[in-house]
Amino acid sequence: MSRYTGPVCRLCRREGEKLFLKGKRCFTEKCAIERKAHPPGQHGTGRRRRRQSEYAVQLREKQKVKRIYGMAEKQFRALFVKAARVPGVTGENLLVALESRLDNIVYRLGFAPSRKAARQLIRHRHVRVDGHMLDVPSYVVTPGAEVSVAPHARGLPVVKEAIEDRKSRDQLSWLGVDYDTATGRMLERPSRADIPLAVEEQLIVELYSK
Ligand code: SF4
Repeated sequence: MSRYTGPVCRLCRREGEKLFLKGKRCFTEKCAIERKAHPPGQHGTGRRRRRQSEYAVQLREKQKVKRIYGMAEKQFRALFVKAARVPGVTGENLLVALESRLDNIVYRLGFAPSRKAARQLIRHRHVRVDGHMLDVPSYVVTPGAEVSVAPHARGLPVVKEAIEDRKSRDQLSWLGVDYDTATGRMLERPSRADIPLAVEEQLIVELYSK
């Protein structure tokens, strides 16, 4: 399964907006979107914006969401298939499934500066769910489950800095967190309105339904 390992700011520039892939830097003037908002490309060729076909618009929206959550195509598609089988609106089901992933919850709780950093913490066995070590970033967190940073990892600079940074921002209503013990939980499954993501998920449904 291939995962993009190149410069992540390039992905934001390709989509023409901030995808918040780098943690603290995304909120500073060092952000590449603030400095050079045009798309990547040699000699400025990326600056030319052509009129996009319906397919291209749908594809870009799917790529954007995939990149925000750091997922490979195969994994993303599999999640979509599952979301389509669940009763309700498929696009919303997809976003809720993405938000329920352990790496996303660790990031949203503020224990890591980005989803990528959250994945690393999980793979390095620094995260526990209901007291048990879990090293699977795609694990689906259910409402009520306790997600915590293991005591031995609470002093890691990446965790401490992420928590300090997140304390100054509002927490999502569907999450509860205690920063002193680096422990939190999903209080309930979020609705679409609770997910702060400016995407048109219906375009992804249309793309995959062709
Ligand atoms: Fe995107 Fe963050 Fe890089 Fe800005 S700093 S371009 S938001 S990854």
